[in-house]
Amino acid sequence: MVAVLAMAQSQTIGFKIIDDGVLEERLRLAHPKTQERYQRLRTLFEKTGCTGLREQKVRGSKEPNLICALPADEASATTIVVGAHFDSAGGDGVLDNWTGAILLPSLAAVLRQQPRRHTFQFFGFAAEEKGLLGSAAYLKALDAEGRKRIAAGITMDSLGLTSTKC
Ligand SMILES: [Zn+2]
Repeated sequence: MVAVLAMAQSQTIGFKIIDDGVLEERLRLAHPKTQERYQRLRTLFEKTGCTGLREQKVRGSKEPNLICALPADEASATTIVVGAHFDSAGGDGVLDNWTGAILLPSLAAVLRQQPRRHTFQFFGFAAEEKGLLGSAAYLKALDAEGRKRIAAGITMDSLGLTSTKC
């Protein structure tokens, strides 16, 4: 299978073709234990070049949120937040939501090589299935300045089932 990652900037759309088998290999990393899912996502971020990963404590969750940030070329730029939860509601949770979680490091790896008008923050959110605890912790920690800087938020969950919803 060949997967295409698309990114829009002004009037141009760029894409990168992922080597055959890479997505399948990453999908097979889905694991029923949340702690293991967290570790595997972290390793995938590191292996694909995300250094300086940050963790954000999440009340009610043993695992933290995991954040890979790519700064914009200009310090004054606004931020695009791209999030996907890495926990599952039970079982391997391949579809919900390992499909979204493994796309985070892939997208970060592509965008790292591009000039960037925006800062990108890739969030692996913890404990979504326990009631959106990870994303709630993120919002609670945002100050007014941080909130003002957000230009867009993109959530990836259970990919491949329907068309994109905006
Ligand atoms: Zn989900």
